[in-house]
Amino acid sequence: MATAAIDLRSDTVTHPTDAMRRAMAQAPVGDDQFGEDPTVNLLQERVAALLGKEAALWAPSGHMANQLALRTFTQPGDEVIVGRETHAVWHETGAGAANAGVQFSEIGTDGTFTADELVAAIKPRGHVILPPSTLVEVENTHNRAGGTVWDPAELARVGAAAREHGLASYLDGARLLNAAVARGDDPAALAAPFDLVTIAMSKGLGAPAGSVLAGRADDIARMVRQRRMLGGALRQAGILAAGGIHGLDHHVPRLADDHANARIIGERLAQAPGVRIDLGRLETNIVVFHLGEGAPDAAEVVRRAGEHGVLVLAFAARTVRAVTHLDVDRAACERAADVLADATS
Ligand SMILES: *Cc1c(COP(=O)(O)O)cnc(C)c1O
Repeated sequence: MATAAIDLRSDTVTHPTDAMRRAMAQAPVGDDQFGEDPTVNLLQERVAALLGKEAALWAPSGHMANQLALRTFTQPGDEVIVGRETHAVWHETGAGAANAGVQFSEIGTDGTFTADELVAAIKPRGHVILPPSTLVEVENTHNRAGGTVWDPAELARVGAAAREHGLASYLDGARLLNAAVARGDDPAALAAPFDLVTIAMSKGLGAPAGSVLAGRADDIARMVRQRRMLGGALRQAGILAAGGIHGLDHHVPRLADDHANARIIGERLAQAPGVRIDLGRLETNIVVFHLGEGAPDAAEVVRRAGEHGVLVLAFAARTVRAVTHLDVDRAACERAADVLADATS
């Protein structure tokens, strides 16, 4: 292969930029288990302010952040209500069951659901048979549905319904900033309906690791212990947190470029006869497309694209995902779009 691969498997594949590496190298650090890492503390303050919450906590991964949310708001045997094909159910190796002992009920369509659907699904506490529903978890943007953005008004209704029925509410906002940039919304407004919110540093923002949880100070304080239980309490984590701060300072508005590049790929694929894709829902950096009649299976599309230097993931037997990010520019995405369209025919 003459040129380097165009890697669209995930927005987690980005390499820290030179400027980000410098910021990381120069970051003042301390022992975060004593609460003495000034860079971790700064990042936590920045995210709490950005999301309009009292306090925030850094976690080594979004996966751990999701486990912390479950362990803070549920008891073993509880039911967690989620949208279809939620990350917590599909992409976390069964961790919710293992770490928190919860069961998940998926509701709604295409990753989102309405407040009415939530209320209809809630099971009461203290019932002799039913598992109590104690937490609702929302994913915005929704990964497997194709980076889809929740309607902010429905988010508010879901949060209000959760409060009214005594459920805790959690927003897995690994890509919440993509949602905010796509619709021109204030991230704090999108976070407001929820008790707890996570955003990822290691996806669109381009940092090598980390997610930050933000919520009420007492919930965050309880999570410090849970994080240590899961082995996620680090020492001089400021080296990593500095990457997140740099991402917040320099890589948020440019998420719009990722969205435009995803659109280029989606629009090209929509013209390919073997592809089914809903362009109306393609608002952010994730292109999920389905293979129609006559098209090869996802694994074969992935293989063919790979032969031409474009890396994507098979999401299901007939479904493929491509994700745009900091390390792929418009020209690369135009080339990838052609390669993917060819691979589906
Ligand atoms: C990637 C992702 C996570 C997990 O983040 P990691 O840092 O990769 O562990 C959680 N939720 C959603 C919606 C994600 O897309």
